[in-house]
Amino acid sequence: MAVEINAKACIGCGICVDTCPVQALSLVDGVSVVDPKQCVDCGACVKVCPTNAITLDKPLAAQKKQPATPAEPAVKKAAPAAEGDYQGVWVFVEQMEGEAAPVSWELMGEGRKLADKLGVELAGVILGAQVEHLVPEAFAYGADKVYIIDDPVLARYRTEPYLHGLVKLIRQYRPEIVLMGATTLGRDLSGTVATELRTGLTADCTVLDINPETRLLEQTRPAFGGNIMATILCRTRRPQMATVRPRVMAMPPRQEGRSGQVIREELGLKEEEIQTKVLEYITAGAAGVYLDKAEIIVAGGRGVGAKNWPLLEELARVLGGTVGASRAAVEAGWASPAQQVGQTGYTVRPKVYFAVGISGAIQHLVGMQTSDTIVAINNDANAPIFKIADYGIVGDAAQILPALVENFKQQLA
Ligand code: FAD
Repeated sequence: MAVEINAKACIGCGICVDTCPVQALSLVDGVSVVDPKQCVDCGACVKVCPTNAITLDKPLAAQKKQPATPAEPAVKKAAPAAEGDYQGVWVFVEQMEGEAAPVSWELMGEGRKLADKLGVELAGVILGAQVEHLVPEAFAYGADKVYIIDDPVLARYRTEPYLHGLVKLIRQYRPEIVLMGATTLGRDLSGTVATELRTGLTADCTVLDINPETRLLEQTRPAFGGNIMATILCRTRRPQMATVRPRVMAMPPRQEGRSGQVIREELGLKEEEIQTKVLEYITAGAAGVYLDKAEIIVAGGRGVGAKNWPLLEELARVLGGTVGASRAAVEAGWASPAQQVGQTGYTVRPKVYFAVGISGAIQHLVGMQTSDTIVAINNDANAPIFKIADYGIVGDAAQILPALVENFKQQLA
């Protein structure tokens, strides 16, 4: 067998499974497994694996073109003249109330790989008020340089001043690549920035790579309803912009003691010049915590039913968790699209994931199978969800949910 998978390095993201053109890969217990009878040794999985967990014991034709040592910059060819003065990879460090969104550091790890392949610097870009403490964090997660605009006008996120600040920095320092998290904030800001700069933006990428010949950013994402993986290029405009959903890329290790150049700029925009005002700031309770940040998720599927859905919400409330849903539950109108977990919803990695009345379709599993602990409740003992569950309860959700609520209420009282 030519393809080998290092089970310890595999994070069970499923990207290789989606990429394999001959369906030779599958996820078993959260780890990729190859069927040697199906595998044609094409190496597509090797290329997309974000943790280098897959190897091919014979050289790929494509690999022969690449440099022998990964330590060397993989791309030596000069950039086309029109793009030549755009250089460097930037990661927008999203923060709220001074707390960085973890996706920023996940992207820093990915940005580091891209910058090393291009042989350029990786920079973190921080916008906010009283956010100086994030500078050493950006270095610890891999930045060589940090651009920062610290201004009271940026205290709470509003599109206008953040657009102004980020566009100002990009126009002045001209990065070739800008990466942002596909969060609510990131989706809003990336679209407006790309529009203002008249450049291309690929949203929700699952794989990012550099083409060694052209130096172009290869931005891969599911397309046509998730039925194919499309690799998208931004050939003629700069910067090349991409967003990536939280938890899709692995969190890089912190490296204490790293430092670099800090470039401080002024926002150059006064409060009076901004049309939107924040009148009130209401923080959501635990049930409203964004799915990608939740530590406990109680997710329901078609098997829960409209009548029992409040029981599911009650269990989430008692546990201080967040309610998630399968697409079937969202389509039934019991949950909002913002609560959908899976291929076309959120990718989550909570400490505990309850899957109640969810069958375990692959499109759901790819969004939650890396959760630390999975508890499945289903009245069908053969439901596929039990294959990846750490704890399984076979039974009717209508009976099990109230029993769990009562039990946890007593234990947590
Ligand atoms: P079902 O598959 O109908 O399963 C219901 C389960 O509930 C069954 O296992 C049943 O045994 C159990 N059950 C029934 N009654 C009870 C009871 N009283 N007590 C306990 N258990 C009970 N799906 C997603 O979730 N997220 C996505 O992002 C997503 N993206 C998709 C993208 C594409 C391109 C496609 C084609 C599909 C996508 N889907 C997605 C849909 C996916 O294929 C499944 O159809 C969906 O996940 C099924 O939802 P479900 O498990 O809630 O429903």
